[in-house]
Amino acid sequence: MQSLTELNSQTATFDVVIVGAGPSGSACAYWLAQAGWSVCLIEKKQFPREKTCGDGLTPRSVHQLAQMGLEPALVAGGHRYNGLRAFGFGATLEMNWPDHPVFPNYGYTITRFNLDGLVADRAVSHGAVLLSGVEAVGLLEPTESTTGGLKGAAGFLVKEKETGLTAEIRGRYLVAGDGQNSRLGRELGTARNRSWPMGMALRGYYTSDRHDEPWIDSHLDIRDPKGDVVPGYGWIFPLGDGRVNVGVGLLSTGGAWKGVNTTKLQEYFVAQTSDAWGLTDETCCGPATGGRLPMGLALGPRVGANTMIIGDAAGTVNPFNGEGIAYAYETGRLAAGVLAEALLANDPSALRLYDERLESAYGDYYKVARAFVRIISEPKILAACVGVGLRVEPLMRELLSMMANLMRNDSQGPAELGYRALVRLADVIPERAYELLLGNQQSDD
Ligand SMILES: Cc1cc2nc3c(=O)[nH]c(=O)nc-3n(C[C@H](O)[C@H](O)[C@H](O)COP(=O)(O)OP(=O)(O)OC[C@H]3O[C@@H](n4cnc5c(N)ncnc54)[C@H](O)[C@@H]3O)c2cc1C
Repeated sequence: MQSLTELNSQTATFDVVIVGAGPSGSACAYWLAQAGWSVCLIEKKQFPREKTCGDGLTPRSVHQLAQMGLEPALVAGGHRYNGLRAFGFGATLEMNWPDHPVFPNYGYTITRFNLDGLVADRAVSHGAVLLSGVEAVGLLEPTESTTGGLKGAAGFLVKEKETGLTAEIRGRYLVAGDGQNSRLGRELGTARNRSWPMGMALRGYYTSDRHDEPWIDSHLDIRDPKGDVVPGYGWIFPLGDGRVNVGVGLLSTGGAWKGVNTTKLQEYFVAQTSDAWGLTDETCCGPATGGRLPMGLALGPRVGANTMIIGDAAGTVNPFNGEGIAYAYETGRLAAGVLAEALLANDPSALRLYDERLESAYGDYYKVARAFVRIISEPKILAACVGVGLRVEPLMRELLSMMANLMRNDSQGPAELGYRALVRLADVIPERAYELLLGNQQSDD
């Protein structure tokens, strides 16, 4: 880690400058640095820092961390778990993560407080320069795109929080990995497709005797004090350090779910699970905090003449399950690959490959996920599906593979066949048709 003063430069120039040392930015920095490119990673907070999250890593995330050489750090500092325990409408089902040729059949929980600094440090150990406590406050010499892409720029104007010192950090290529609010992404010209789903979630920590259970719990029916189901889902993720992460989420698609207050939802959920988990005012570790989950590749454009967006800044959260960490690592890595090609060939036009690769990696899958989210956003449909689904174990196991994006390329199992059928269906049914069918007029702002 360096301070601006140590960097001692008003005119530092790097091959790539990345804003945000969350999962997307740090992974992008790691993959570029280990390939020998000069990288500057700008982070406004100092590690370790709190980050609102469920702290759940699925096998996809574990795979990316292992590829960056960080599985030993997970073993040392995380809590390994076997799979998902789903609850809903009177039924409970425990499902191990499936066997897969690429992804492990286990996940980890680890607080973002402990996780994010590990990945940033890994990038630094391969030569990336990390400026922490330094905020990117604007673009240097921005240029409009002539092709409808992101703006181009010469670098970022940055400000060190503690000293107020400012500097210009210049790069041949610039990446915004600055998260769900993505001020820099918006300055580069991104906009969100507002007719696509958006998630909202809230989490808090509690101490609990059950902190080291081998399952992460997902509750598909949250009840108010009268026992009526309210829209939303809840989770309890054991952290293995004496605490559990307890949270609720809500999908903003569909008028029927509008106006729900996530704080109330969390209260109802904690009341519903307090006896089983010992969740009380005394075991509560502090107030819950929340955030948005931009999903389904809802933000764009994603590429400019020398600029790109990754992770939440590009809306890469999986709409099926609200998982964002794996996709932040993956899109950071995809961007790094394309940037390396552009740098090697000295050809900025190679950046357009990023769009093509994102579409080929996630385009069909997210199309199906967005359609699925629209359909289950209708509480009656959700209740019917969950009520039946949780009683048909093989069906739920296949659905778990699909929802966590753990289908196999080498198999023609029910999950893979079902998914391919859904892709064909999503190809012929326009997205707007789901809203019309369900009678929902979307607007979440
Ligand atoms: C309540 C909640 C629960 C969640 N639970 C899970 C879960 O259990 N599992 C899962 O996979 N996903 C979960 N997610 C989603 C996940 O947290 C995100 O998808 C993930 O953090 C995205 O990573 P990122 O790198 O794109 O952005 P972030 O993690 O948001 O990182 C962005 C970084 O950029 C920095 N930054 C921002 N602006 C600037 C600036 N101008 N200058 C310098 N630095 C800047 C920020 O400080 C931050 O460190 C959850 C989200 C929420 C809100």
